[in-house]
Amino acid sequence: MIRVNGLVKEFGDIRALDALDLHVPAGAVYGLVGPNGAGKTTALQHIAGVYRPTAGEVLVNGQPVYENPQVKATIAYIPTDFFFYQQARVQDMCDLHAALFPRFDRQRFGRLAAAFALDKTRAVRSLSKGMQKQLAFWLALSERPDVLLLDEPLDGLDPAARRQVLSVVMDEVAERGMTVLVSSHNLRELTDVCDHVGIVDAGRMRLERSLEELQDNFVKAQVAFADEGQALPATLDIVNSSVQGKLHTLVLRGSSAQVEQELSAAGATFVNILPLSLEEIFIYEIGGAQHANGILA
Ligand code: ATP
Repeated sequence: MIRVNGLVKEFGDIRALDALDLHVPAGAVYGLVGPNGAGKTTALQHIAGVYRPTAGEVLVNGQPVYENPQVKATIAYIPTDFFFYQQARVQDMCDLHAALFPRFDRQRFGRLAAAFALDKTRAVRSLSKGMQKQLAFWLALSERPDVLLLDEPLDGLDPAARRQVLSVVMDEVAERGMTVLVSSHNLRELTDVCDHVGIVDAGRMRLERSLEELQDNFVKAQVAFADEGQALPATLDIVNSSVQGKLHTLVLRGSSAQVEQELSAAGATFVNILPLSLEEIFIYEIGGAQHANGILA
């Protein structure tokens, strides 16, 4: 559904995207993660058709997005700092979106506003920040997009509102097969909703997998050998290790089946394989083992 190939974006001397590849299957909920300044927002803005690529291509449903109104009509984008005419009432924003977006569904907006007790006669400036964010969601979802792009979408929402907003988004995914690309630093929340994850660093894709594959790409293993001095097999791709008595705690690249098999073949008397959280995987991919010591201790 979304295919970004070799995308380069330069802002003067700054190379924000450095041949970024990003592939989101139709109907996927894809979490885009990466450190500050990695290029996530710039990537989303290209997919939304805001920026012209310096080089490379950005295709949605097989079509280039930039200056392509037909494709852009199928995409809704909620940036971190969305814009409202502050003097406008909620109803005026609904009218504006209906005029701008050919697929905008006024009834859908009315139902969402009613379900979430959003008074359509209120001025946008009188709404709290969190209520304005909810308004941005209800407007975007009423555009009936095929693709929803979200940049740090849940910031400023209280825990109940976060759940409600996510549940409406996930309903759209389940009912209409909407594709979602979401950038967030909240890795725990992403783990709950995403089925695909891309880790971006310095404008490049470091790792792009389904969540299942990703979680089977790194494992944590507790292992003991009868002989305390026994060396660990050299074939293991160990990214971090600590030892207490006979018990080694290892973080390794590889699938749980492969790691377990190699440790058992090396004569381990005890092997316990544990999954790593997305947060731990992120830190190992981006920060290196020295950053992860605190988390995994
Ligand atoms: P964060 O997690 O902090 O929001 P990000 O991954 O979204 O970061 P971007 O906002 O895409 O990162 O920025 C990527 C790089 O491009 C940064 O070095 C940033 O300073 C630079 N950049 C982004 N927009 C512009 C711009 N309009 N002009 C100049 N540099 C820019």
